[in-house]
Amino acid sequence: MKEKNSIERRKFLKLSSTAVLAGLAGNLTGIQCREGQSIVEEAAQKVGKLPRRKLGYSRREISVIIGAGDYELLLIEAGVLCGINYWHKANRWMTSGAPDVIIKNRDNNYCQVTVDRVGGGHYDGRFDEEEHYRYVKEALKKTGLRYFDDMQLHFGYHNTEEIKKNRSFIRAFERLKKEGIVKHLCLSQHSYEGSSRVKNGQSAAEVLTAVVEDGIYEHAQFIYSYGSDPEMDKFIEFARAKNFGTIAMKTARGIGRMKEDKSFMDKLPNDTSPYNALTRWLTTKTKLDAAVIRVRNLDEFVETYSGAGKDMQARDLRALDIMTAEADKTACRLCGKCQAQCPQKIPITDILRFERYALDDHDRNKASRLYTGLPTRGDKCINCRSCIQSCPLNLQIPEKISKAHILLS
Ligand code: SF4
Ligand code: SF4
Repeated sequence: MKEKNSIERRKFLKLSSTAVLAGLAGNLTGIQCREGQSIVEEAAQKVGKLPRRKLGYSRREISVIIGAGDYELLLIEAGVLCGINYWHKANRWMTSGAPDVIIKNRDNNYCQVTVDRVGGGHYDGRFDEEEHYRYVKEALKKTGLRYFDDMQLHFGYHNTEEIKKNRSFIRAFERLKKEGIVKHLCLSQHSYEGSSRVKNGQSAAEVLTAVVEDGIYEHAQFIYSYGSDPEMDKFIEFARAKNFGTIAMKTARGIGRMKEDKSFMDKLPNDTSPYNALTRWLTTKTKLDAAVIRVRNLDEFVETYSGAGKDMQARDLRALDIMTAEADKTACRLCGKCQAQCPQKIPITDILRFERYALDDHDRNKASRLYTGLPTRGDKCINCRSCIQSCPLNLQIPEKISKAHILLS
C-alpha cells in the first residue's frame, strides 16, 4: 500500500520534472515549476496556511476548509502543506490505502469514515448495527489508518421520529468506540421534506435540530450556500449555542456553469473570481466551523482556497451579489420545499442535485447514472406548475426539470 503511494509519488515527481524540462507544466496544471519546488509546493505556497476553528464539543482545531478522500493525490498533498487536517470520506482510500502523506502524519489528521444505510440507497436502505460495525472494521483494515476520528452517517435521517426509534447506527458507533476504532459521531444531512420516496420526510433543519437536542452527535455536514437561507442560518446559530459543529457542503451552487459563461464572467469586478469570493464569504462572513468546497485541480485549488480566512473587499462583495442574483435564477438550493406539491411525485430535489453535478461539477457520467436510477424522472412532469409557488427562489421548476431530463437521459 505504502509502496503503491510512493510509486505514485515518484511517478508524479518524474512527471513534474519532465514537464519542467519540456516546459509543459503550465499545460498540465496551469502552474509553472520553479527550480527545486514542485507544482504542489508552489500551489500550497500561493494559498498559504489555512486558518483553523474549534469543532463541536471536542474543540478539536480543524482547518476551515476540509478535504475529501476522493481528491487526487496532488490535491491531498497540497492540502496537507496548507494545513488541511480534516478528511471526510477517508474510507474512499479503501481501494489503495490511505496516502503516505496522511499515514506518516496520522495523528495530525482527522479522518472520517462515511457509512451508508445497507440493503439499498439513502431512501430505502436500512440501519443495521452488525453491518455498520463490520463495514467500519473493514474500512479500517483496508485504509491502514489505525483508527477513524469520526464515524459519519451518510445522508442522515428521514425525520425526527427515526432518530428516536432507530438507534442501530448509534449502537454500532458505541461498540466501535469502546474498541478505540472511532472517536466521534457525526452525520451529513439532506432534506427529505416533501419527498415521495420516504414516509414523513422532514427538512434538514428540523432533523438537525432534533439531532442536536438528542446530544449524541458532535457535528454535521449540510447543504448550505450563498444567498438567503434563514432556516439554516437559524439552525447554525442554535448549533453554535450548543457547541455542535457545523460544516457546509455543496457550497458552490451554480458556480461551475457561471464560469463557462463568458458574458456572466465579464460582469464581475476585476480581480475577483466566483470561487475565491465564495471561499472568503464562507470562511469570514458565516458562523460555520468549516466548509467543503470541491476543487478538481491545482489551478482551482489556488483560485479557491487562497480566499480562506481573507476579508471580503468591496469588489468581492459586489461579485457575490452578482453571483447570488444569477444563482437564484438558475441553481436549486436543494431545500425540498417544492416536492410535496407535485401530483406526479417527481423527485425534484434529486433531479436538480444531479443537474448540479453535471453543470457545476462537470461530472456528467455520475449525474446521468444517478438520474437513470430514479423511480420517476422528469418526463412525467405535466407542467401543472404547482411546485413553483413553494420555491423560495421562484425557480421555473418545470422548465428546469424538462431541460435536466434532456441533459441527463
Ligand atoms: S410542474 Fe411538474 S414538477 Fe412541478 S408540480 Fe407539476 S408535475 Fe410536478
Ligand atoms: S426547486 Fe426551489 S423549492 Fe425546490 S428544492 Fe430547489 S430551491 Fe428548494
